[in-house]
Amino acid sequence: MDSLDAFAGQKLAALETGALRRRLTVTGRGPDAAATRAGRALVSFSCNDYLGLSHHPRVVAAAKYAVETYGAGAGGSRLVTGNYPVLSALEARLAAHKGKDAALVFGSGYLANLGITPALAGAGDLVVLDELSHSCMWAGAKLSGARILTFRHNDAGDLAATLSSERAGHGRALVLTERVFSMDGDRAPMADILAVARDFDAWTVVDDAHGLGIVEGGPRAPLEMGTLSKSLGSYGGYLCASRAVIDLLTSRARSFIYTTGLPPASAAAALESLAILEEEPDRCARPLVLARRFTTRLGLPEAESAVVPVLVGEAQRALDLSARLEAEGFLVVAIRPPTVPPGTARLRVAFSAAHSESQVDALADAIARLHAG
Ligand SMILES: *Cc1c(COP(=O)(O)O)cnc(C)c1O
Repeated sequence: MDSLDAFAGQKLAALETGALRRRLTVTGRGPDAAATRAGRALVSFSCNDYLGLSHHPRVVAAAKYAVETYGAGAGGSRLVTGNYPVLSALEARLAAHKGKDAALVFGSGYLANLGITPALAGAGDLVVLDELSHSCMWAGAKLSGARILTFRHNDAGDLAATLSSERAGHGRALVLTERVFSMDGDRAPMADILAVARDFDAWTVVDDAHGLGIVEGGPRAPLEMGTLSKSLGSYGGYLCASRAVIDLLTSRARSFIYTTGLPPASAAAALESLAILEEEPDRCARPLVLARRFTTRLGLPEAESAVVPVLVGEAQRALDLSARLEAEGFLVVAIRPPTVPPGTARLRVAFSAAHSESQVDALADAIARLHAG
């Protein structure tokens, strides 16, 4: 064996020991939260398609029309020839939804976060993140070359203390957080965080990947980013901000400039989904209603979003529980370190407008039975 394969083999063995090796499983998805694995029909509680829009007939039709009209791919960077017509309509609608002047659509949410922070901060500047921030916010912060600090999860007082002792001596400062945390489902105290950031002349980026359409209302951050891949059921990312900021990012965000524009079908699908999201408040309310039904039935803290963690502890136990649920017809994926801190492996249960009450009750009862045993 050469040294490369020896290295990979050793790393894999270590991951295996900690029950941290990850494997791909072919999964089919259909409407109504249906999934199939190895020919078995399952009800999925692991999709981020919170509003059930990825298979909505209007969304599918919009994607088909776009692929037939504009082709399968964008053909180039948006700054060259990849800026096909649907994109400006999508950006206008995203900006209006967020109450901002302008928006910029990226290839994905991950790419958006890789581009935003380095375009606004660099050496000599300061980036302060909530300690549970998503991997791509960390990646953007590291790429920027700014000094990186964290504040305790959802603790605006700790943010204030950090900025008060560390803000001086830096040029610009950014505060990064999520409106709804991806693995915990809890909400950031946005009003408090925005007030603290303003006091210290720091600019807040909020990642709304899990909030759009589901947890609306409340104050907006100057930089509102998110994804087209979750409640909008498509693919892509965005930033909504002032005209000046969007114009700057168009010229300076490397993950926007040096990559191909997202496929036309993805943009068209997201635009149609956003229209449905705005037309159908009952659809948007449903994931949280179902999540609360679930937390009530299991005696868990009341759900704050469409995401509910069922904490298990050790990675192997979470994998075992997930496997037993799958045997009963439920797809609930185990989330392990390093996605979450060591010792906090969990089932991450994601609710969708496409679930029925009886599916939710059946899952809760199965978890009560298997988790206790
Ligand atoms: C999913 C997610 C992203 C990445 O979005 P993609 O469009 O899937 O790349 C970014 N931030 C958070 C908080 C997420 O949960």
